[in-house]
Amino acid sequence: MFDANKKYGILGMARSGIAAAYKIKELGGTAFLSDVLWKDKIPSAKDLIRDFDCEFGGHTDKLLDCQTWIVSPGIPLDVPIIQKARERGIELISEIEFGFRIKAADSKVIAVTGSNGKSTCASLIHHLLENLGTRCILAGNIGDAFCGFPIHEPGLQYIVLEVSSFQLDLIHSFAPHVAVLLNITPDHLNRYPSFADYSRSKMSIFGAQSPEDYAVLYKDSQEIARQESTIAARKLYFSLTHPATEAKLDDKFISIGDNRLSIFELSIKGPHNQLNAMAALLCIKALDLDMTQAMEACKSFKALPHRLEFVDSINGVSFYNDSKATNCDSVRSALESFERPIRIILGGSNKGEDFSVLTEALQKHAVKTYVTGDTQDIMRQAWLGKLPLHFEDDFEACVRAAFDDATMGDNIVLSPACASFDHFLNFEHRGETFKSIVKELKREKE
Ligand code: ADP
Repeated sequence: MFDANKKYGILGMARSGIAAAYKIKELGGTAFLSDVLWKDKIPSAKDLIRDFDCEFGGHTDKLLDCQTWIVSPGIPLDVPIIQKARERGIELISEIEFGFRIKAADSKVIAVTGSNGKSTCASLIHHLLENLGTRCILAGNIGDAFCGFPIHEPGLQYIVLEVSSFQLDLIHSFAPHVAVLLNITPDHLNRYPSFADYSRSKMSIFGAQSPEDYAVLYKDSQEIARQESTIAARKLYFSLTHPATEAKLDDKFISIGDNRLSIFELSIKGPHNQLNAMAALLCIKALDLDMTQAMEACKSFKALPHRLEFVDSINGVSFYNDSKATNCDSVRSALESFERPIRIILGGSNKGEDFSVLTEALQKHAVKTYVTGDTQDIMRQAWLGKLPLHFEDDFEACVRAAFDDATMGDNIVLSPACASFDHFLNFEHRGETFKSIVKELKREKE
């Protein structure tokens, strides 16, 4: 329910904050926008100044007049202004909490979180719901923000949300009808005090659910098993190994009740993507929709760009762009997705992970590891003497070195285990750069 008498503070003029501000305005309320960046660094500053009361270059006490603050997921919760708000008893919420409060009652939310696979799984659920002819949207961390859609108007059946831990840190009443937790593995340890804190943040997706709701859970995760007794919702499990889960792998078939889907009919590669497909199909089961039709629709779902995306092949050497692999577990998935030898390109900006957890998988699946970016020294310490290694400061030189060493049948996979901000604007920029290097190599060699 929206309270038009309240004044809302918006911290951070990025995608979700801007969407929330315009939604507040549309609903007849007042928003005050605040950002540490100066206006020349905010692309839509001109429009925002026209439409709202704004401040740039820092957060001032003007914010303290606002009773509720919608905080951008990019703002760490230990900064002084947040501490100050807490001392004053100001309500702090994320944009997904706000969206959930104001959405029309007839739409059901399906929320997806996890350390890896969120975008793929949420997009697949949306693909299935569209193919089943429902009125649905895909929002949150992918595409447009939750509040960027007409969610307060009746008529939408399903809202599929990709939700990050940063957005979950400030929820209170957010209660998805179906909540999916794909996995919990180390990530963002530069923002959370410990893995336990990060894990707690992920589990909070179930916190406000009732026994009428559903939790879709990865059975093979010890971390999830350790905490799942706190979940009130009905549980549906998926697994690659367990014989008695609601979605399981049965002789190369994904099996849910009497319905079966051959894994060879999926165009998304690797065991991790079979798990993503199982989780998406369990959402269809929870919503009591047609499973036969949903399994058929799974076959036409294609990998998203930058997630083990096939780029091209040159003289029998295949290139894959997995630039979105920004933590060790996603790199492990990439390593387990190929039958043939991999030459893997790793490195970027550090998020605080222990790279030695990849040593065994690299020894098993990679013929050689090519390291670039800001993490070169840390990766050298983790792997020197244990793996065949090649170091290159320059990203393009690194890709070229892998190609020079490759023979017919090899796969060259960019799967960095790191964020991209050392030399790129974002993971998309890194992936596009990789693709243009491959294009240039192809022009030179063929
Ligand atoms: P997210 O939105 O959580 O970052 P994506 O679907 O964008 O997830 O995939 C990010 C990276 O994780 C890609 O490298 C992808 O290949 C890998 N990945 C996807 N699904 C899984 C999964 N279920 N388990 C582990 N890794 C995965």
